[in-house]
Amino acid sequence: MRNFNEELMVYSKSLGVDLFGVAELSSAKSFIEKQGGPHVAGFPRAVSLGMRLLDDVVDQLVNHGDLVTISTYRGLYMAVNAALDRAALLVAKRIQDEGFRAYPLPASSMLNNEGLEASFSHKVAANLAGLGWVGKNCLLITLEYGPRLRFATVLTDAPLTTGSPIKNRCGSCTLCADICPSKAIRGRAFNSDEPRDVRIDASLCDMYTENRIQTFGDVNCGLCVYVCPHGNKRKKPS
Ligand code: SF4
Ligand code: SF4
Repeated sequence: MRNFNEELMVYSKSLGVDLFGVAELSSAKSFIEKQGGPHVAGFPRAVSLGMRLLDDVVDQLVNHGDLVTISTYRGLYMAVNAALDRAALLVAKRIQDEGFRAYPLPASSMLNNEGLEASFSHKVAANLAGLGWVGKNCLLITLEYGPRLRFATVLTDAPLTTGSPIKNRCGSCTLCADICPSKAIRGRAFNSDEPRDVRIDASLCDMYTENRIQTFGDVNCGLCVYVCPHGNKRKKPS
């Protein structure tokens, strides 16, 4: 019997996607509507597509004031976003060709130049699809690659089999809070009942990033990606 999930996963992987999952969105509908409006919130499911960053580039982020490191990270970030956007488009076309609705949301779905508002949280879709948990750094942490990925999403009504969220494995680790130069990360475990501000003061990260933009251009320091032991081949999670 035909398995459309399997077909889409194999197709996604042929496009360079490393992690593929499908989320049932009803539990997050009001949050999604608040962020992206009624059209975005009108889809029952989401295909979550994750693409890895390159370890050798992320491992260099410990030198986050070095110009070669910064320009390489920025180039990688943009290239992975572009590759993900292409993959999301082609997956959406494949879904549409089967007679279903498909609405691709790009890897960077910011609504304004300040980058403070997004039309959709790829993290919510990836979490509900079972690809990872929300870490103390507020990033999606996957078992396979930690936070070393970027995500794009295709909203759809295709009758795909959905995953379910996995256990949070941050435990007593506070490495991301300890290393954060702006002290934005507070070291508090994710709780879906609490607002994000309890875990991270985004304004501190934004201010720190703004200073870096003046000096280096448009890229954050990435230390909270670099330091996470999940996905870091040089460190084992405790
Ligand atoms: S990008 Fe840098 S400043 Fe911002 S939260 Fe991560 S470690 Fe902190
Ligand atoms: S560095 Fe530690 S606390 Fe932070 S997200 Fe990774 S596992 Fe969780």
